[in-house]
Amino acid sequence: MKSFFKLILLFITVSVASQTNDFTSKIYETYETYKETSLDKRRIKHQDIQPLINALKNKPGFIVNKVGQSIEGRDLTLISIGSGKNNVFLWSQMHGDEPTATQAIFDIFNLLISNDFTSEKETILNSVTLHFLPMLNPDGAEKYTRRNTLGIDINRDALRLQSPEGQTLKRVRDSLNADFGFNLHDQNIYYNAERTDKPATISYLAPAYNYEKDINQVRGDAMKIIVFMNDIIQKYAPGQVGRYNDAFEPRAFGDNIQKWGTSTILIESGGYKNDVEKQEIRKLNYVSILSAIYSIANGRYKNIPIADYENIPRNDSKLFDLKIEGATYNLLGKPYTVDIGVKRYEVDNADNSDFYNVGRIADLGDLSTFYGYNTFKADGYTIVEGKIYSEVFNSVDDISDLDVFKLLKSGFTYLQLETLPEDNLEASMPIHLVKAGHQLPELILRPGVNPTFLLQKNGVNEYAVINGFLIDLKTKKNALKNALVYR
Ligand SMILES: [Zn+2]
Repeated sequence: MKSFFKLILLFITVSVASQTNDFTSKIYETYETYKETSLDKRRIKHQDIQPLINALKNKPGFIVNKVGQSIEGRDLTLISIGSGKNNVFLWSQMHGDEPTATQAIFDIFNLLISNDFTSEKETILNSVTLHFLPMLNPDGAEKYTRRNTLGIDINRDALRLQSPEGQTLKRVRDSLNADFGFNLHDQNIYYNAERTDKPATISYLAPAYNYEKDINQVRGDAMKIIVFMNDIIQKYAPGQVGRYNDAFEPRAFGDNIQKWGTSTILIESGGYKNDVEKQEIRKLNYVSILSAIYSIANGRYKNIPIADYENIPRNDSKLFDLKIEGATYNLLGKPYTVDIGVKRYEVDNADNSDFYNVGRIADLGDLSTFYGYNTFKADGYTIVEGKIYSEVFNSVDDISDLDVFKLLKSGFTYLQLETLPEDNLEASMPIHLVKAGHQLPELILRPGVNPTFLLQKNGVNEYAVINGFLIDLKTKKNALKNALVYR
């Protein structure tokens, strides 16, 4: 008899689990139907989300309330839906340049206002009430910068509460006394899952609420949800999850909100190969957050063992955009073997709506404990300094027909122009532009130096590195975004 009940219990558990997995697969497969296509780039601003928020005011079940404003007077809006007794509070983009989850929230709204998934939505909205505060730092988003207009990190303002944005977050948390909180961020793309070359596409943390890192039920429930979400990400992006260091930070919101009694789940969207605008990562946010909400609603998460949290690999920061392994570097007449780690930084245009890349050598030497989104094995290749092509051209109009690859093969990585393009520091062809008469400093490999050189084998330039982008001179294959204009 006893085993019969066990069997029934097992059946119920498996059945709820498969329902959850089923829901996850379905929302993954149908994602494009609900994707909010007006938000398809990372540089989104307050004005981009206002029409979407206003449209929700007319949708049945949605309650839209202004709950505060930023220093520059931009509205902070709380969007609520559901009638369940458990409150789930999600806030995004307290750092202005971390927009991925904001986009996913609007995808979630699109699913909620659709006529689809009625039974799952009924389960969710009868059991929980959802409260979203997207883009907590709209002034930072305007300039695509982490901090707010006061110049402070809102995530270090949970105690002093000087920022109106932080005050709003605290007030809303307290008024809801939320059971669960999703603290939604982005991290830089150079995080990896410890001792692997996999990017930490998503990193999680159930923040500690004291220096002892104790686990009470509030924090334990957050850990269970994270284990649940990790399983989902592992399915769609195997190995690409990291677990954040849980050192207690007394000034941070996540740590305090955990302390104040809301089970807090920190989600950091990191990098994913060939996904500069993080749209795949946004999809993973959508799928995993919605699934987590469903799991909170049906109570399935409660059976997850907390111990599994510790099995999620730790976050590390060992990635480069490009890693060149074992190249020969001739210095003062002697050859040395070096690895070169390249990062490509983003420099925004004037209105922070777009960017260009500036490559930098981030490190060189024995980088055998590091990884690259792209790795080039350079055994037998010698690093050769690029030269300025002798012919002087009038302007960019005169170079459009040039065979740039032929010039690169001949060792030229710079072109001279009488007139450089106005206000423009990026060049579209895989060759840098300099003013006529420009003198190049000698190429000395150092951290901070722009990675521009040729990789030569048996006297032949087979590859060029321009502004940190690798260019195959045989096939012309490359992923160049831009070269640079030197004034
Ligand atoms: Zn952040």
